[in-house]
Amino acid sequence: MSFSILSPSSNAEDWVRTHLGEFCEPFGDWTASERFRGGRTAALSALESFKVRGYAATRNEVLPISSRGASQLSPYIRHGLLTLGEAWEHVSTAPDHDRDKFRDELLWQEYTRHMYSRIGTHLADSLRYQPPERPNAQGWGERNTMACLDFALAELETDGWVPNQMRMWLASHWTVREGAHWQAGEREMYRQLLDGSYANRAGWQWTIGSATGRPYGFSRWQVTKRAPALCNECPSRHSCPIEQWPDEPQLDEATHRVELRKGQNPPHEPLLPIIDASRSPEAVWITAESLGDSDPALTAHPDLPALFIFDTPLLRKLSLHPRRLAFLSECLADLALRREVHVGIGNPVELLRSINVAVTAAPVPGFRSRSVQISPAAVYPWPWLAPISDAPLSSFSAWRRALPSSLATASLRRQQRQKRRR
Ligand SMILES: Cc1cc2nc3c(=O)[nH]c(=O)nc-3n(C[C@H](O)[C@H](O)[C@H](O)COP(=O)(O)OP(=O)(O)OC[C@H]3O[C@@H](n4cnc5c(N)ncnc54)[C@H](O)[C@@H]3O)c2cc1C
Repeated sequence: MSFSILSPSSNAEDWVRTHLGEFCEPFGDWTASERFRGGRTAALSALESFKVRGYAATRNEVLPISSRGASQLSPYIRHGLLTLGEAWEHVSTAPDHDRDKFRDELLWQEYTRHMYSRIGTHLADSLRYQPPERPNAQGWGERNTMACLDFALAELETDGWVPNQMRMWLASHWTVREGAHWQAGEREMYRQLLDGSYANRAGWQWTIGSATGRPYGFSRWQVTKRAPALCNECPSRHSCPIEQWPDEPQLDEATHRVELRKGQNPPHEPLLPIIDASRSPEAVWITAESLGDSDPALTAHPDLPALFIFDTPLLRKLSLHPRRLAFLSECLADLALRREVHVGIGNPVELLRSINVAVTAAPVPGFRSRSVQISPAAVYPWPWLAPISDAPLSSFSAWRRALPSSLATASLRRQQRQKRRR
């Protein structure tokens, strides 16, 4: 290979400080997430220890921590260390209600991935409605005034993860109450999250009402219900700034409404492998979307080394917290226990253009643009939970109705029964 290749190290923090120092500098004295360690081994162990019984009733709980029912699998799912299909199968013998609630959430993840794959960077634009913005809006405001926001931000900045419930608090407070620019808040959260992904801009859009016109209001009510201890210790408990619901914002039509109807923005991903028979792959290029041993290109070429590139032009743009880089490095070190792994640092297009690589088609626009220039010798289809199609993206329910019956859950069947009755 025409560039210097590095080996992953079991000391991910040191590895990142040594080789990716420029990305650590702005963050001073940082540490890796102690709660989430990267790698397929950690992912399988997290999946094994997740018991779905009680999930439906406890998924939204925040405090005490022991009451939380969410699986905390998202960093592993985000980076392809677990496929959505594996998580789906894991709960196959669980009680119907909990199993179906969990599977509904996996389908939400698949929906956001389909959406991002099909509409690409338009997911960064307000889909249908434009939330009002106030000049000089403070977003999350000053620390040490509200225990609920402090707690959510401290967890986000320490572990690189927060439960869905607190993500909704943070997004709603930033945009619905304070009127701050939603894309700036999304970026702040994304930089901190281990599972941060552009597909999940959908999470912001559904919370703040830009997708549906119905914003989620965050007030003291949710904190009292989901984490009462926070109110008890809050410096503002006698003058709570979120005692009342936020005012219903005036949502204008988005200037450029994104086309979400059936048949629009058809999928671009290959449905079958694309193999250039005149070239033999020399390595499997693995991307941050797909770092698990079950990556289709890795399984198709078990004897080839895996090659990961830390994309420095992209990292300069993203300005991710280095704990994510440490997480990725841990994933590579773990994979290296089972097969040869090489790591490059630089622009993947320049580094990979002269190598015959096999790769899995990550369903994100950045992969597509790079792949065209790299011209891989073999491209394998993405392992979707639900086959990608030109189904409507206008709502989760509309999208879900087009799924094969094998992916139907109780809530879908209920919806179908109600529709038949009407
Ligand atoms: C404002 C906001 C921002 C978000 N940003 C991200 C993000 O950057 N990356 C990310 O992976 N998720 C994001 N989500 C979705 C969701 O909050 C997380 O996936 C979830 O909290 C992860 O915790 P868990 O694994 O314990 O979830 P569980 O409740 O155990 O669910 C299992 C899996 O289902 C999927 N899932 C659960 N809830 C959702 C949801 N609301 N939307 C889509 N998929 C879901 C995830 O893959 C999750 O790991 C965001 C949600 C909101 C409201």
